[in-house]
Amino acid sequence: MPSPTPPTRHVIQFSGGVGSALTALHVAERVDPNTMTLLIADTKVEDPDLWRFSRDLAGHIGVPLTIVADGRDPWQLFRDKRFLANDRLALCTRHLKQIPCRTWMEHNAPPETSIAYVGIEPSKRDRPRAEAIARNWAPWTVEFPLLDGPDRTKAELLDELRERGLIPPRLYELGFEHNNCGGACVRAGQKQWRHLLEVFPDRYARAETEEEEIRTFLGKDVSILKRTRQGVPHRLTLAALRLEQEATS
Ligand code: SF4
Repeated sequence: MPSPTPPTRHVIQFSGGVGSALTALHVAERVDPNTMTLLIADTKVEDPDLWRFSRDLAGHIGVPLTIVADGRDPWQLFRDKRFLANDRLALCTRHLKQIPCRTWMEHNAPPETSIAYVGIEPSKRDRPRAEAIARNWAPWTVEFPLLDGPDRTKAELLDELRERGLIPPRLYELGFEHNNCGGACVRAGQKQWRHLLEVFPDRYARAETEEEEIRTFLGKDVSILKRTRQGVPHRLTLAALRLEQEATS
């Protein structure tokens, strides 16, 4: 007698952000929570409130967190790879998030019986990313539940979280666009780094020190940020950006 087909496993690629949290809530409305996995990668530099929020969400839908990790934080990774990531090439996302999650999927969620859910936010800016994300997740089927509805602003998405009884992660309230890597993301632009300096000077100081150490370690003029003036790109170190900020405040 053939063995029965296992039930479909619904794996939420949870980042700790509002998009993937709402995705989990929407999926939990239509499938058995026992068939869901809330998969999150720990980059070792997340804001502590990301974990508070993640635990709240897990308790709310009745699905425990499944936490995977490379084990390194972004700075250790950059040293190991002898490369300082930036908004053009953020190898930290690949090594600290995508690879650990994919490895978990390979061992625990066969593509024939599993669906991956990604929390792309329903906005004109983010919708076009879906195709490439789905391609990268092959051979798994990928669904983007939030894209079924109309475009919504971040504020509207955060309101939905509150209406559902969840307190959003504090980084949004503190003026950050995303709840990732404690606000010190290599893909964030100058504006967010200036904001980080104001809100979390200790985190900025750590990033500045790490950047300086990597520059010395590599013996190269590298930086996370770049600035283009009269069409010519220039390096902009976090130290230089801080000095500019201090001079104008
Ligand atoms: S959130 Fe930013 S710093 Fe963190 S892993 Fe992703 S790209 Fe790197």
